[in-house]
Amino acid sequence: MNIGQLISDLFPDERLPYEWAAQGQLMVKVCSDCGSYLPPHRLICTGCHSAELTPTNASGRGKIHAHTAVRADRHSPELTRIAMIELEEGPRVIGRLIGTEAKPSIGDAVVATFEAVADDLAVPVFTIRSNETS
Ligand SMILES: [Zn+2]
Repeated sequence: MNIGQLISDLFPDERLPYEWAAQGQLMVKVCSDCGSYLPPHRLICTGCHSAELTPTNASGRGKIHAHTAVRADRHSPELTRIAMIELEEGPRVIGRLIGTEAKPSIGDAVVATFEAVADDLAVPVFTIRSNETS
């Protein structure tokens, strides 16, 4: 089963961030009651427990908060770099780092692009913005 099929089987509210990504939008949610910015998958505010969350377009820019490398195929020497990205808006999201041969560093500035996983679904992936750290 590929990731596109896994995402297709999610509940509609859970699929939304991937549908937004397929439209080239990295979204976050803003709590209408307390103003907290939340990751796109949140259904309830972690600050005040309100369910009044409004999707809003994020810049797609952020910095690496943490990262690791995994071997997706134990028979392949290729490593996949996974990072937790702290977006400029504040929420943290997880995505693959692409286009970097060098080991990334905490604080490296990144920007989101999108990788299609099905006709109407995509996942955010991140590239390091050259010579920028924050
Ligand atoms: Zn709230």
